[in-house]
Amino acid sequence: MAAFRRVPRLYLERDLSGDRLALDAREAHYLGHVLRLKRGDELVAFNGRGTERRASIGSLQRRGAELELSGVVNALPASRLTLTLIQALPKSDAMDLIVQKATELGARAIVPVYSEFSVVKLDAERAERRVEHWRKIAQSACEQCGRHVPPAIAAPVELAGGLDALADADARLALDPDSTARLGGAALSPRRVACAVGPEGGFGASDWRRLDAARFERVGLGPRVLRTETAALAVCAIAQSLWGDV
Ligand code: SAH
Repeated sequence: MAAFRRVPRLYLERDLSGDRLALDAREAHYLGHVLRLKRGDELVAFNGRGTERRASIGSLQRRGAELELSGVVNALPASRLTLTLIQALPKSDAMDLIVQKATELGARAIVPVYSEFSVVKLDAERAERRVEHWRKIAQSACEQCGRHVPPAIAAPVELAGGLDALADADARLALDPDSTARLGGAALSPRRVACAVGPEGGFGASDWRRLDAARFERVGLGPRVLRTETAALAVCAIAQSLWGDV
């Protein structure tokens, strides 16, 4: 029996309204060597701006490729929950994982913040490269999971600045291993939820002052202390399960 194979999805930040699309050498390499596709193979091309098209590979060479675009595919709707993850910057591998998994779990925005015990501080140039790297990870996660619009990923800012950006959240939660309050505890059904997750060393006293001032409620995820990346993914899954589409 032939194994069922999902049609590969390709994120292209491009106008996809025509019937042909030229791809550069890097994209051709991706099709041929990463996705292992050949001329004639089918895929779905999408651009995060509402367009998903069926495509087949018209030509595939080292220096470029051409896609033949045909029918329109309906994009997967975004979760009804607008979930913003405010993530105190952990070590880089952990952040890569968080970006990938939070994308799969439908986070609408990721705001990396520096907190009192953040070990990482990036200068402007490195921060820009890192954000670009995270956006690529989010785009690949969208290709894999079927999501259409990648999460917005902001450049890292100080915690206070990150909290200011959340004027319209109707629930603000800060993960605190010492809290016995639970996410589903209050009888509310928020549409726009912001969750703040501490770094490896947890939030410090000055972070808590800022979170309190911004009216963040402390909530716990049970008796075990989770690594920051586990906490981030768990809170995305729990919030989507309570109020979103999981
Ligand atoms: N030694 C630190 C542990 C930090 S764990 C401390 O005692 O605070 C990293 C982050 O993950 C925490 O800041 C918190 O935001 C989140 N986290 C981990 N386990 C959690 C739990 N059981 N409940 C709520 N948040 C948790």
